[in-house]
Amino acid sequence: MSLAFQKCINPACAADYDIMQVLPKCPKCGNLLDVDYDWEKMALPTRVSDLGKVPDWPSGGLGAVSGVWRFGAMLPFAAPEQRASIGEGHTQLRRSPRAASYAGVKSENFRLQYEGLNPSGSFKDNGMAGALTHAGMVGASVAACASTGNTSASLAAFASASGRMRAIIFIGDGKIAYGKLSQALDYGAVTLLVKGDFDDAMARVQEVCAEEGIYLVNSVNPFRLEGQKTTMYRVLEGLDWQVPDWIVCPGGNLGNSSSFGKALYELYDHGLIKKLPRLAVVNSSGAPTLSRIVNDKGLKWNGGAVDDGIIADYYAGLDQRGEKAHTLASAIEINRPVNLKKCLRALDRLNGVALDVSDQAILDAKAWVARDGLGCEPASAASLAGARQLVEKGVIDKDSTVVCILTGHQLKDPHATVAYHSYDEARLQADYGEFGVRTSQYANHPIPVANSLGDIVDVIRRVRSDQK
Ligand SMILES: *Cc1c(COP(=O)(O)O)cnc(C)c1O
Ligand SMILES: [Zn+2]
Repeated sequence: MSLAFQKCINPACAADYDIMQVLPKCPKCGNLLDVDYDWEKMALPTRVSDLGKVPDWPSGGLGAVSGVWRFGAMLPFAAPEQRASIGEGHTQLRRSPRAASYAGVKSENFRLQYEGLNPSGSFKDNGMAGALTHAGMVGASVAACASTGNTSASLAAFASASGRMRAIIFIGDGKIAYGKLSQALDYGAVTLLVKGDFDDAMARVQEVCAEEGIYLVNSVNPFRLEGQKTTMYRVLEGLDWQVPDWIVCPGGNLGNSSSFGKALYELYDHGLIKKLPRLAVVNSSGAPTLSRIVNDKGLKWNGGAVDDGIIADYYAGLDQRGEKAHTLASAIEINRPVNLKKCLRALDRLNGVALDVSDQAILDAKAWVARDGLGCEPASAASLAGARQLVEKGVIDKDSTVVCILTGHQLKDPHATVAYHSYDEARLQADYGEFGVRTSQYANHPIPVANSLGDIVDVIRRVRSDQK
């Protein structure tokens, strides 16, 4: 396993570290670490279409059916018997004609990648397979994370399935959707409700892990991002290894977008794909750090010499104004994204863009996602809302091939969905006006009926004649 190592993302430092070290950041310069490989000495497939093929799919054992580990050749930091799995990564790349029309691109050129099908209901399982594999390799018995919900649900599921790992989760008090909280509690994780928001919980968990020697699985953990690369392999596989023009995903802590970038430019650098897609990372306007810092402040990867002053100024401004992340898309309610620099690198390599969309646009887009038989939580729909905005602005050409990533399952957060479809405007504004939500123009209203055959038949006949 010595062919895998950890490496500082700052090219001016470029320190590398043994794979068996547990390091939340580079001890020399404080930047994030990558997992990197001595690729020259590793056996990569010569054709991209051979990636992910499992010639003799072994029977039994959850690892055998992992949609992460079948791409193990691209994340070769662990021996097969060390791999943690709960059967993650069995996701789908789906044609979605209605969502395509909403985005404004041709139906045949548009796909939704549905990561909500993971065992704990979000893409986080891809990454947790990587992180808990590494946790096992270094002999950790306790793992912790701060979470807006899905990371904790995933950690809790992996920990309880392992039978020997204890999970401790830090949640911003009152900042979690019930679907996610119910998972953490049900799987038996130690659940700490920290008075504060996600950014506070994130700061505390890092301190506690350093102090207590607890294994941290937030996406500062580079092994998590290795697992998250596999979404891109499955997208490409679903497209018969044709590279799309655009990948569009929501941005919170920016781990997913960073890992997508790494997955794609590694394939490109090895000559396994001949072009790179462009990447669009979509914030909610209620938590717009990436969008603002890239578009208004002009922050760039700049060959790794990122201007830390711009970031510090931006955060100081947030503090001065007392500005907290505030969006109903709770999974991306994050104003201090820990993977900011890795995301800047991904945007640089993939000629990417950052943008933000309103919570109104997110809920409207979510209703269109569901019209194709896929359900997602609000944060996920930022991708479709973002694609629509980019097509409107002419950044995405109408003839482009576009893949939007749906990061989490519909049932994670049914509250906003039910409100959108069933509340009248006054009630919607009373509950969601603080997020700028005014209307629900794509709502499917439930119909109250009397407990009477005659009345029900009348309603159904009316509905059916409307359909004609
Ligand atoms: C975690 C999460 C995100 C944000 O992903 P990052 O990697 O933190 O940018 C988006 N949507 C859902 C459903 C999530 O759980
Ligand atoms: Zn360094």
